[in-house]
Amino acid sequence: MVWLRNNVLWFIGAAFALSLVALFLPGVPLKVLALFSVLASGISALFLGRRAKFLEKEMGVKTEGFSALTEGLEDGVLIYDLDFAVLEMNGALEKLLGIRREEFAGKRIQPRTGLVGGELLLVQCLFPSLAPSSTQVSEPGAWPQVVLINTENPPKKLSTSLTRVPNNNTPSYFIKTVRDMSYERETAESKTEFVSIAAHQLRTPLTSINWALESILKDVRENPVSAAKTAEEALRVSEGALKIVNSLLDVAKMEGGDLSYTFGKTEIAAFLREVISLTEPFAKERSVSLFINPIPPEWEGAAANIDRERLGLACENLIENAVKYNTKNGEASVTLEVFPEKGLAKVSVKDTGIGIPERDAGRMFSKFWRGDSAESMEPNGSGLGLYIVKSIIERHGGRIGFESRENRGSVFWFTLPLAGRGGVKEQEIG
Ligand code: ADP
Repeated sequence: MVWLRNNVLWFIGAAFALSLVALFLPGVPLKVLALFSVLASGISALFLGRRAKFLEKEMGVKTEGFSALTEGLEDGVLIYDLDFAVLEMNGALEKLLGIRREEFAGKRIQPRTGLVGGELLLVQCLFPSLAPSSTQVSEPGAWPQVVLINTENPPKKLSTSLTRVPNNNTPSYFIKTVRDMSYERETAESKTEFVSIAAHQLRTPLTSINWALESILKDVRENPVSAAKTAEEALRVSEGALKIVNSLLDVAKMEGGDLSYTFGKTEIAAFLREVISLTEPFAKERSVSLFINPIPPEWEGAAANIDRERLGLACENLIENAVKYNTKNGEASVTLEVFPEKGLAKVSVKDTGIGIPERDAGRMFSKFWRGDSAESMEPNGSGLGLYIVKSIIERHGGRIGFESRENRGSVFWFTLPLAGRGGVKEQEIG
């Protein structure tokens, strides 16, 4: 049938040719000639009508189908002619560049000074060399031309790919696709940064352990007492290094969404006493007195749905900081307050230590940040503790904060929704 449709003109031509032959043949009656003509025009009307319908449909597929296809894409699509006049763009491009297609339909895009916002981005997509930085990824002269561009205002990392249509030396228009790579490239950069900072954090304890082992080797025969002391120190440092590695693994799991939680209803007061008994030896070692403030009997039964292991880790971290960044013979105290009318409990960890300078307040809880005085007091830290604590508290539906004065001490506090008050549900996992 397709073959018949495609050769319709041949049929019409043949019918006419036969009519003409019949005209000159003696003895062929006029009726036969008329019959041929009617037949020819009938066939032509039938097939030409079908052909027109087919072409109409084909055009529909090419235009409506094409725009339906481009509208469904996550990448921005821009079609423009040889004069850089915009012929078409899809919704993704409007969203990505923050522009409206009505404003640019048919408009010639030209590099001009004083451009801002979406129009500036559009110009930089069309003329990548005008972007603050651009890198050609495809081979020079090869099609499609792929160029990565970094824009500044607003800051974006875009990958653009240019195709010419038709794909020869005399195209009539161009199609440019634009992909927002900001997330992918930032993720890759932050991974590299994570690895480099992690390696840096581990270098200090590993150097100490290395030095300790060398000196033990030297001392082991002549000075065994000194060797044993150094071995003890090395053990302490290696425990610190292990802690850093565990924190790094926790952060990697946290950021990959793989840190699972199991919540269970727990009495907060008893839980805090347990955590304090676990951290007491550490406080003793540092000559810091650690205690829990008296809890009114009516608050003893206050419970929250918690993941004991993870919240225990968070509390230990806050208490250990209160001990580490304290002064000799200083104090670290834990307080529980319950606000039944608000449906929450508040736990505060107070110390009499070095405090936090006002200029650093905004950096608290951020990944890898360590204060200058803290770093010199405690060279073996990761700067990950508070970052992890914040994530754990928030996963429990609570909030975290602190108040501090430099050289006067700090109070780190967090809240927890009381059980049965719409916080996280018991046994919720994930
Ligand atoms: P680390 O203890 O390994 O440095 P943290 O994330 O627990 O990592 O803490 C980050 C920084 O916050 C510390 O290096 C320190 O500068 C500051 N900090 C945390 N807790 C206290 C505190 N109780 N007193 C003073 N500074 C603190």
